[in-house]
Parts: sequence; C-alpha cells; structure tokens
Amino acid sequence: MAINFNKVEFILSAASEKQFVRDGMPQLAFAGRSNVGKSSVINRLVNRKNFARVGASPGKTSQINYFKIDGKLYLVDLPGYGYAKVSKTERDRWGKLMENYFQSAGLIHLGVQIVDARHKPTADDVTMHDYFVQTGCPVVIVANKLDKLKAREIEPNLAQIRETLSLRDDELVIPFSAEKGTGKEQLIAAILDHLND
Ligand code: GDP
Repeated sequence: MAINFNKVEFILSAASEKQFVRDGMPQLAFAGRSNVGKSSVINRLVNRKNFARVGASPGKTSQINYFKIDGKLYLVDLPGYGYAKVSKTERDRWGKLMENYFQSAGLIHLGVQIVDARHKPTADDVTMHDYFVQTGCPVVIVANKLDKLKAREIEPNLAQIRETLSLRDDELVIPFSAEKGTGKEQLIAAILDHLND
C-alpha cells in the first residue's frame, strides 16, 4: 500500500468511549510521555509545522485526537502521560480513557511509542508499553531527541531502552530526531511493513 503522509486531515477529539472511531480502517496509536516530542514526531511524519500542537498545555491531557492519513488510515494521538502537575482527577480521567481505548478490541493496528533517547524509560513508559503488549498489537519504539546525544551514547542508550521495556527481538527501536528528521524514513517503512502484514 502506498500512503501519502502529506495528505492529512483532523477528524475529531474523543473525550469518551462513545466518540471512539470504529469504522474498521487501520489505526496507528501514538503514545508518549508529555514533552517527549510526540507532537513534533507526528508533525515531522506528516511534513507540517503545526499540525499536532507542539507544547500543548497540560490541561489537554484527556482527549484522543484522530487524524486521517490519505483516506487510508488513522493516526491516533493518545494523550501524553507522566506530566507531574496534572491533578488526580485529570490522571484518573486519563487512565479511564486509556483503559477503554485499549480494551476496545481490535482498534489498534500498530502502536508507536515515543520515548526519550537520552534517558532510561520511566515507570510510566513501561506501563504504557505493557498496555500495548497486552492488546497483542505490534509496537514500534521511537527514540526521539537523538540530536541531543553524543555519538558514543547512542548504542548504550538504545540498549537500555530495549532492556527497560523488555522488548522482544522483533520489536524495533528507531533512533529519531523530530528536530532534524532523522529516522523518518525508517518509521514510515515500519508502518508500511505492518500495514501490509
Ligand atoms: P509532546 O508534549 O510530547 O507533544 O512534545 P512536543 O512535540 O510539544 O515537544 C516538546 C519539546 O521538545 C518542544 O520544545 C520541542 O521543540 C522539543 N523537541 C521535540 N522533538 C525534539 C527533537 O527531536 N530534538 C530536540 N532537540 N528537541 C525536540
């Protein structure tokens, strides 16, 4: 399947289960800790500067945003997690929404989990990865902000990400820089690979 990632349209924001899209079109679910650069990765993928909002306020943590790509698949932007200043009410709302989304059988075709290439994945990252694993859907890990690493730090950091998230050998970690564009082709190739399966 050829996909034109430049053809992208915003569809809707879902704040509860009844708004989830269930039309059978493949869904790529993007997840990541707040500030990891999820919006920047999405913008890089669709070649826009300001499509998914960069630096969105932490108050907007409990909506799932759906974008349609080339009329062929949904890019599903899951709300960021791990933002320290979020209230308990907001955190609970996030948890409920995620639980509902992940339990809606068969919605996710491929998970794209964004982590920070500089750091060991957090406990929240591990939990999010487990959410994906439990649904049985494949997950690709994007190690973002690679431009902030020295060359000698790259391999050990990627190994640490692999180990902390307990990745299987067939799970991909893509070194990525939303800022520079590094890894974009590899991410697109991984997405196409899974869609063709
Ligand atoms: P989100 O909260 O996960 O959606 O993160 P954003 O996309 O809003 O990015 C958070 C901050 O990280 C912003 O200041 C971005 O400019 C910066 N950022 C995102 N990706 C990269 C990257 O690959 N390299 C660098 N150096 N900064 C990045």
